[in-house]
Amino acid sequence: MAEQESLEFGKADFVLMDTVSMPEFMANLRLRFEKGRIYTFIGEVVVSVNPYKLLNIYGRDTIEQYKGRELYERPPHLFAIADAAYKAMKRRSKDTCIVISGESGAGKTEASKYIMQYIAAITNPSQRAEVERVKNMLLKSNCVLEAFGNAKTNRNDNSSRFGKYMDINFDFKGDPIGGHINNYLLEKSRVIVQQPGERSFHSFYQLLQGGSDQILRSLHLQKSLSSYSYIRVGAQLKGNLKFVVDGDTPLIDNGKVVSIIAELLSTKTDMVEKALLYRTVATGRDIIDKQHTEQEASYGRDAFAKAIYERLFCWIVTRINDIIEVKNYDTTVHGKNTVIGVLDIYGFEIFDNNSFEQFCINYCNEKLQQLFIQLVLKQEQEEYQREGIPWKHIDYFNNQIIVDLVEQQHKGIIAILDDACMNVGKVTDEMFLEALNSKLGKHGHFSSRKLCASDKILEFDRDFRIRHYAGDVVYSVVGFIDKNKDTLFQDFKRLMYNSSNPVLKNMWPEGKLSITEVTKRPLTAATLFKNSMIALVDNLASKEPYYVRCIKPNDKKSPQIFDDERCRHQVEYLGLLENVRVRRAGFAFRQTYEKFLHRYKMISEFTWPNHDLPSDKEAVKKLVEHCGFQDDVAYGKTKIFIRTPRTLFTLEELRAQM
Ligand code: ATP
Ligand code: MG
Repeated sequence: MAEQESLEFGKADFVLMDTVSMPEFMANLRLRFEKGRIYTFIGEVVVSVNPYKLLNIYGRDTIEQYKGRELYERPPHLFAIADAAYKAMKRRSKDTCIVISGESGAGKTEASKYIMQYIAAITNPSQRAEVERVKNMLLKSNCVLEAFGNAKTNRNDNSSRFGKYMDINFDFKGDPIGGHINNYLLEKSRVIVQQPGERSFHSFYQLLQGGSDQILRSLHLQKSLSSYSYIRVGAQLKGNLKFVVDGDTPLIDNGKVVSIIAELLSTKTDMVEKALLYRTVATGRDIIDKQHTEQEASYGRDAFAKAIYERLFCWIVTRINDIIEVKNYDTTVHGKNTVIGVLDIYGFEIFDNNSFEQFCINYCNEKLQQLFIQLVLKQEQEEYQREGIPWKHIDYFNNQIIVDLVEQQHKGIIAILDDACMNVGKVTDEMFLEALNSKLGKHGHFSSRKLCASDKILEFDRDFRIRHYAGDVVYSVVGFIDKNKDTLFQDFKRLMYNSSNPVLKNMWPEGKLSITEVTKRPLTAATLFKNSMIALVDNLASKEPYYVRCIKPNDKKSPQIFDDERCRHQVEYLGLLENVRVRRAGFAFRQTYEKFLHRYKMISEFTWPNHDLPSDKEAVKKLVEHCGFQDDVAYGKTKIFIRTPRTLFTLEELRAQM
C-alpha cells in the first residue's frame, strides 16, 4: 500500500476510495493537485497531473527515498514506477517498458526525462567511466531531438512533433551500456506552414537567434525571423525562393537564392534550377524534361524542403544511435543484456483544423489505448490464473472497433485512402471523402456532414468525423491524398544524390536511380505509419509494461486552475475509473506470504515472534482467521489476495497498536 500520508493530501491510491465513482475520483484528484501532490497510484499505474510549475520533488534526496524501495512503500511518484521497472529488469532479467500517455501538454515528455534521470542516478554505483559516458549521452540526446523535433503549438509550447521510443540496454550488473531510439512520423508539414499562433521547429529559431554571426553568414542567413516565409507565414518577405509566371511558364523570381541553395547543398546552380522548374518523365521510350506549372513548381519546392528536414532529422537519430548503441558486449561472457524501453509519443490532439497528421497521431493513441486495455486486463487475468484464483470479467469500452475502422485491411480508412492514392487518374480529396462515405457510412464511429445533414447536402463537404475513444474529431480531407502520397519528384532526389557533400549524398540513396529504373510505387505515408505502429505495439507487448497516465489540468498552462470538466473528460477516456474497478473487483492488494507475514506477524500470538506452522501460507491463514478477515481474502499459490482496502487499513491499524 502506498505509504499513508496525512489524509489532508487525499488518497495516495485511487483503489482506496470508499466508493468507485467519478465525483469521488475527481475530488481526490483535485485535492491532491491543489496540495501539490501531482502523482497518485492506481495499483501499479501512476496518474500524473501537470503542475505547470517547478516542484521540488525530483532532487537527489527524493531519488534516495525511492531507490530500491517497493512500489507501495513510498508516496506515489514517477520514481516509484521507474524503480519498479528497473527492479523487475534487474532481479528477474525481464525486459520492461514504461508507456507514458496523455494528451498534448499533459506532461509526457517531462515525465520521460525525469524517469531517465532517475535511472541514470541510481545506476553505476562504482562510477565506471564507460557507463558514465553512456548515461551522459543518453540524457543529452534529448536536447538535440527536442530542438529538431519539438515546436510551439497552440496546445503546448514544447510539443513533441515526432514519436519517440527509447530502449536503454543494461549489462548483467544493471548498469546502462547503451541504447537505441526509434522515431516515428515527424510532422514535417510544419516546415512549410503552421497554424495561426504556432511555430515551426525550435531549431530554426535557435539557429537564427543563437547562431554566431559567422555561422549565419556562412549560411547566408539574416538574424531577423520575419525574413523567412516558412517560419513566418503570411508576412511580406524578401529573400525567399519564389516563382513568377511568364506566360504559362514559371521562372525563378530571385536567382540569387538559387545559387545560395546550390552552395549550401554542394551542388550546381543550374542543376538546382532545373530540378525546381522541370520534371524528367519517361513517355514510352523517350525521356523528356517537362516544364512545371507555377503550382507544380511551388509544390515541388515545398515537398523538397519538407523532405530535406525530415531526412536531416532521421540522420540525426541515426547518428545518435551510432553513438549510443551497445558496443563490445559479449552475452556469452556477461550474460543477458536487458532493456527498459521508454515511450514518449505525441498525445491525442484536437485542433480547430485537423488534418492528416492529427489523423495519424490520434490513430497512434488508439493503438496505445488498445494495448493498455489488453495488458492491464491481461496482466490481472494472468496473475489470477497463475495463482489459481477465479476471475470475474469487468466491462471496458473496448476501442478495438476504432482501431479497426482506421487500420483494417481493405476496409479501413487507411486502405480506402491508399486506394484513392493508387488510382492513376486524378483523384481529389473530395472523391476520397465520397469513397469513405459509401464504404463506412454505416459505421458507428464514422460520420461526415453529408451523411448527417442528408436533407441539406452542402457542396463543400470536406470533413469526416471519427468518434475516438478520447472524443470526436473532425478531420478536413483537404491535403489527405497529397500527404499520403508524399510525392517528391525524383529530380530532387537525383540532385541531392549528386551533391559533393557525402553526408547529404548518403541521405538520398534512391537518387541513384534513373527515371526508367524508378518503377516500384513506394508505400504511402499512412501505411508506413501503420506498419511502424503495429511493430511498436508488438514490441511493447513483449515487455513487462509500466504505465504513466498524464492529465492536463487546464488549457491555460496555469498552475492554479484545475478545470473539472477538462480533467473529468480525460479521466473518462483514459479509462481510469475502469482501471480502479478492475484493480478492486479483483483484489485491491496482493502480497507474497513471506512479505505479508514479515509485516503483520506481530498482530497475532500464532505468528509472533515465530510460527510453528508448516508453511508461511499456513501461518498467514492462521493470522487472517485470528483477525476475522477470512471472507475478504483469497489464497493464491504464492500470494495472499485482499479484496477490500478496508481490511488492509485495519491490519495497518492493528499493527500500529502493537
Ligand atoms: P505533447 O504531446 O504535445 O508532446 P507532452 O505531454 O509531452 O505534450 P510536456 O511537453 O511534457 O507535454 O509538458 C508541457 C509543459 O508542461 C512543459 O513544457 C512544462 O512547462 C510543463 N510540465 C509538464 N510536466 C511538468 C512537471 N512535472 N513539472 C513542472 N512542469 C511540467
Ligand atoms: Mg511531448
